[in-house]
Amino acid sequence: MGLCQRWRRLRLSGLQTCRLHTAAVPAPPQWLAERLGLFEELWTAQVKKLASVAQKEHRTIKISLPGGQRVDAVAWSTTPYQLAQQISSTLADTAVAAQVNGELYDLERPLETDSDLRFLTFSSAEGKAVFWHSSTHVLGAAAEQLLGAVLCRGPSTECGFYHDFFLGKERTVRGSELPALERICQELAAAAQPFRRLEASQDQLRQLFKDNPFKLRLIEEKVTGPTAIVYGCGMLVDLCRGPHLRHTGQIGGLKLLTAEYTRRGFSEVKTPILFSTKLWEVSGHWEHYQEDMFALQPPDSDRLSSSLSDHAPSHPADTLALKPMNCPAHCLMFAHRPRSWRELPLRLADFGALHRAEASGSLGGLTRLRCFQQDDAHIFCAPDQLETEIQGCLDFLRSVYTVLGFSFRLALSTRPSSFLGEPCLWDQAEQVLQRALEEFGEPWELNPGDGAFYGPKIDVHLRDALGRPHQCGTIQLDFQLPLRFDLQYKGQAGAPEHPVVIHRAVLGSVERMLGVLAESCGGKWPLWLSPFQVVVIPVGTEQEEYAREAQRRLQAAGLVCDLDANSGLTLSRRVRRAQLAHYNFQFVVGQKEQSKRTVNIRTRDNCQLGEWDLTEAVQRLLELQNTRVPNAEQVF
Ligand SMILES: [Zn+2]
Ligand SMILES: [Zn+2]
Repeated sequence: MGLCQRWRRLRLSGLQTCRLHTAAVPAPPQWLAERLGLFEELWTAQVKKLASVAQKEHRTIKISLPGGQRVDAVAWSTTPYQLAQQISSTLADTAVAAQVNGELYDLERPLETDSDLRFLTFSSAEGKAVFWHSSTHVLGAAAEQLLGAVLCRGPSTECGFYHDFFLGKERTVRGSELPALERICQELAAAAQPFRRLEASQDQLRQLFKDNPFKLRLIEEKVTGPTAIVYGCGMLVDLCRGPHLRHTGQIGGLKLLTAEYTRRGFSEVKTPILFSTKLWEVSGHWEHYQEDMFALQPPDSDRLSSSLSDHAPSHPADTLALKPMNCPAHCLMFAHRPRSWRELPLRLADFGALHRAEASGSLGGLTRLRCFQQDDAHIFCAPDQLETEIQGCLDFLRSVYTVLGFSFRLALSTRPSSFLGEPCLWDQAEQVLQRALEEFGEPWELNPGDGAFYGPKIDVHLRDALGRPHQCGTIQLDFQLPLRFDLQYKGQAGAPEHPVVIHRAVLGSVERMLGVLAESCGGKWPLWLSPFQVVVIPVGTEQEEYAREAQRRLQAAGLVCDLDANSGLTLSRRVRRAQLAHYNFQFVVGQKEQSKRTVNIRTRDNCQLGEWDLTEAVQRLLELQNTRVPNAEQVF
């Protein structure tokens, strides 16, 4: 199906959070209302039919429960959920689905015959899949309502879920639409809409999904029997085998994720940290950088070579060296198969650990380490793509630094006295960088002769909150590496051409950036970065249980929350201690707060924000965290 290539995939992750307040949902498209009308009709008929079957047969069936116990149930009437309630209310609350004679079942689906019954909770892989799979329907429903999306598939993955849908040939989901989408998801979750399982005939299915070519195709290809299962949930009707949670309230909340990197067309890769020195000879590191690298001889080269297969030539194992940079490994990835101009630009991002044998005198705190990670990326592009790519790098840089609250200065470093390559190529590249900088619109300065021997570069000096400069990000052009590795792609005219490599880091060393951030905020982290967001302090031992509950609510919402229930210290001492530890917020709970289910809030600067409803306070903190405000304590 040609449409497949144009599906826009939004990837989300399920996350249990507190319920959020409701806001207006836009009027749904007409076809959605029609589909829902038909579903309701069929649903009413099915409910009637099941009730009459149960009444007519009134057959008792035997159910064996998890502990080996056997109980009686009524065919077509008793549900796994009812039996879970009989076992314990905790099980009924935590079960996400059932297994009936090995088959996955909704908790609300009536049992039909003698059964061996098991329950699935979120702690099992199958339980997680049910949870995430149910969440993907909530996202699909929101996309239908807000964007008029035509839904395709929404499977769960190992750590979350995603949903593929089609918005028209030219349309994608805009970043500005994510908050509204997220809000509708949260409203659906808060509304605790039941998942309703309906068996529909082939004709009914075609009628239900007449406006969705993807589902019609699925019906044609996958529905081999006379009927198939569809689920209704709120405004959503979807073709699905199930099972699902009982209702969307069990989801709690959803957080839409798009990592910045995917949006900007980078592929994240992982490369080994240890390579033969032969690689470093090709890249030139062994010649120019050997003193700064950790090299090691394999401990028992005999053992390694004899473990090779009999057919492999026996040779002593190579000397190995820990990688100080990712570029050579990325060159290997580029070169592992023939490349075409259509694949360019190829953007590879790598957060792998790097090792450099820095002299002990030059080490310092987090700012210079022998092992560190970079937000490193390499862009392989054609010469005529350079300018756009450089502009993309600069834009990425600005968006990240703005969020972190840094201002920055840019410097263009040009051809040094000892350089490799053609002078005219250098001139062209320097002009490209200069044009990109001018287009970018931020002030920049020229550092003549300060470029690397392999190409010109843009250095980024950022200023922290105290105005101190730090060199972190960099954008470097490289003409030499593609030649050294003989990297080639088939150009538009069919002839082989060499790509240009851009080395690019926005934060530079992640550890150094953490150090700079810690210095710049003086240990008073903004809420969204803070390792100490909230501490709950009960006034007396009688409030400890409620304090613990408040802590659980905050933690379930994904916030960092500790409890200071140490009754050996007075309340004011504990508040003081929390403020010295720079907890952004202290939630104090006494008798009054416990009975009204509220919290009394103070900030680390001892500003009293007064009494807040617990649910509203958690919601407000989440908003402040998600919008990454730098001064959550002042704007709470
Ligand atoms: Zn489903
Ligand atoms: Zn590099």
